[in-house]
Amino acid sequence: MKARVVIVGSFIQDLAFYTKQFPQPGESVIGDFRAGPGGKGFNQAVAATRAGAATLFIGAVGHDVFGAGAKKFAHAEGVPVHFVEKKKEPTGTAVVSINAAGQNQIIVALGANLTLHKQDIPIAPLQSAQVVVCQGENDFKTVAHVLRIARKAGAITVLNPAPMRADFDFALLRHTEVLVPNEVEFAGLIRALPRSGLRNLATEEVSRLPGDQLHGLCRMFNVPIVIVTLGARGCFVSQPEVYTRISPHEVDAVDTTGAGDAFVGGFAAGLVKLNRNVLEAAHFANAVAALAVTQHGTAAAMPTSRELARFLRKRDHK
Ligand code: ADP
Repeated sequence: MKARVVIVGSFIQDLAFYTKQFPQPGESVIGDFRAGPGGKGFNQAVAATRAGAATLFIGAVGHDVFGAGAKKFAHAEGVPVHFVEKKKEPTGTAVVSINAAGQNQIIVALGANLTLHKQDIPIAPLQSAQVVVCQGENDFKTVAHVLRIARKAGAITVLNPAPMRADFDFALLRHTEVLVPNEVEFAGLIRALPRSGLRNLATEEVSRLPGDQLHGLCRMFNVPIVIVTLGARGCFVSQPEVYTRISPHEVDAVDTTGAGDAFVGGFAAGLVKLNRNVLEAAHFANAVAALAVTQHGTAAAMPTSRELARFLRKRDHK
């Protein structure tokens, strides 16, 4: 089956430790442990697959036990993958510590993800896909290459500039059709954009901006569509001539990690399922992400198309 959605991105093995209190420097504490697959790109691929779109994930892992685990997990999930195996780099890994207050401390080693190069990427899937998605956990040269080829071939290119990086390359936006930042990334991009004149825009201010002002800032990126995700406040969709606020679904959120990945994966799947209609796909993504925050974990929390259908049916009847 040809992939309608191609996601080029990161795989990261999450190693999560749950403790009462974080250890002080030099101290050891006893805690519980859970391991799980992660990485923004991979999470998005699981979300898009479960939401019902034929998806291919392209990424890099090391020649190690975590890389082998990645392949096993993808197979079990039914996510087709093209993993490039790097002999000299370890699989990306994150150590996540969570204390009793639910706060977290995270160290990410991107490892093999940073050595995913242009020549590692198969071209044919990018050229036949309807939607191609990238994020910020790979080399920006690779990201630019992928977006350029995909857009030239007529795919909708989606860039999720996460995590926000000080070295963000604004040239990527030339090949981007839909930019999907969260509030932190949006504020960071605006501060870094010389022509914005807003060197001090704080993250907290983003969701408080009046619609026409937020829309005006979105237009400064010169990207056709900008969708700012606003956490528990839903999202904001800026198209060339119009903007729309989409309200969040009211759900019992238990774990919001990976909400952005659920949204981006859900959006890509939505574009395919809903005839490339951006607004309808954003509504679909809003539902995928709402359901994801009702479950613990990241990739494991992504809803299936059946769960989504049931959820949306219930909302329609309210
Ligand atoms: P990130 O994980 O990148 O910080 P956000 O926090 O902006 O991303 O969340 C992404 C999307 O997830 C939101 O636009 C919204 O659709 C959904 N979402 C997040 N938190 C909630 C919540 N508490 N209730 C309902 N939907 C939520």
